[in-house]
Amino acid sequence: MTGKKRLSVFGATGSVGSSTLSLIREHPDKFALHALSANSDYHSLAQLAQEFQPSCVVIADEAFYTPLSERLSGLGITVLAGQKALEEVATQKVDLLVAAIVGLAGLAPVWRAVEAGQNIALANKETLVAAGHLIMPAAEKNGATLLPIDSEHNAIFQCLRYESQADIKKIILTASGGPFREMSIAEMQNVTIEQALLHPNWSMGPKVTIDSATMMNKGLELIEAAWLFDRGAEKLDAIIHPQSSIHGLVGFKDGSWLAQLGIADMRVPISYALGWPDRLGWQGQDFDFSQALQLDFAPIDGQKFPCFSLAKQVLGQSAEQAIILNAANEMAVAQFLAGEIGFADISTIVERALAAGDSGIKAHSYEAVIALDREIRQR
Ligand code: NDP
Repeated sequence: MTGKKRLSVFGATGSVGSSTLSLIREHPDKFALHALSANSDYHSLAQLAQEFQPSCVVIADEAFYTPLSERLSGLGITVLAGQKALEEVATQKVDLLVAAIVGLAGLAPVWRAVEAGQNIALANKETLVAAGHLIMPAAEKNGATLLPIDSEHNAIFQCLRYESQADIKKIILTASGGPFREMSIAEMQNVTIEQALLHPNWSMGPKVTIDSATMMNKGLELIEAAWLFDRGAEKLDAIIHPQSSIHGLVGFKDGSWLAQLGIADMRVPISYALGWPDRLGWQGQDFDFSQALQLDFAPIDGQKFPCFSLAKQVLGQSAEQAIILNAANEMAVAQFLAGEIGFADISTIVERALAAGDSGIKAHSYEAVIALDREIRQR
């Protein structure tokens, strides 16, 4: 790597954002920050800006512009607020833009960054679920590169680095099974928010942690993989692997399989994307192969995890179905986290939304995706 890479980190105050910044902290000689963004946590954003001295910061919620500006006054850092500013900064040329906003709120900056031909390290899976049919061709047209940092997709990306597309027989994503892997369907009916937030292997933001507990996360990831790796539903699958040591596997036409192993720490896949096409030095914990290492695999029980089944049904169907799935799930997870519905209601809400269909909006453009998403949420 020559010179410093200039980065923008969208969603800097979240779990993926923090992991990204901890790697940048370890490699001050390799990275410089152009922009950092948050939604409303201006306090953390100000602290990060004071430490990393980016050229600019963006707070999406305009209500926090004034306190953020006051905290950063005199530092020479440009302070911006609002959706339009977020989109504008996404077009400002950097070596890598880390897309770590949660939910479809992350689509607008990713879309603008794709239009601007940026290199994008993508964590925000909801953008590809809802708009993969637009993002992938737009990326190709504009010369934008998508580097997946979702650990499973990053694993597949690594396995495919030197392979020919025509030789791929199957892509398999692994899933820990979440906190309720060992529970019966009856026991899962009354789980609490606290139980659902206790992921056995990964430390993540609340939305993706609940998605992991329902296993909607693995369904969303299959749809994400279909776009990233240009594969049909028949070539994609997911299996339970409770140790979360192997993150993804690729089977080839000659009977060989490649798998990527890494400890369950998001900084491993993020490090790959930050260093790409090189690799950064790893300063964290690693496997100890002098100790016995167990690797278990099991199929996913679609009856026990109806959210996974619903997403699998949507995989390979219309873009509109995927938008409905994503919007209904985001709404249901927010309601569950607010204590308004039970855990089992999440899949019921998504199922009903899919059955109700859409009002005829076709997701042929970015604006239409946003309109359909809004319609489903209002409903
Ligand atoms: P967090 O909830 O921890 O962080 C979300 C970030 O997005 C925060 O910086 C938040 O700002 C910002 N944000 C939230 N809403 C908006 C909005 N409306 N407009 C602008 N910014 C917003 O999420 P995670 O880091 O867990 O996840 C981020 C993405 O990465 C998700 O799509 C997730 O599925 C994916 N992912 C996450 C993994 C993980 O380990 N966490 C693993 C693999 C994928 P503020 O702090 O101000 O609210």
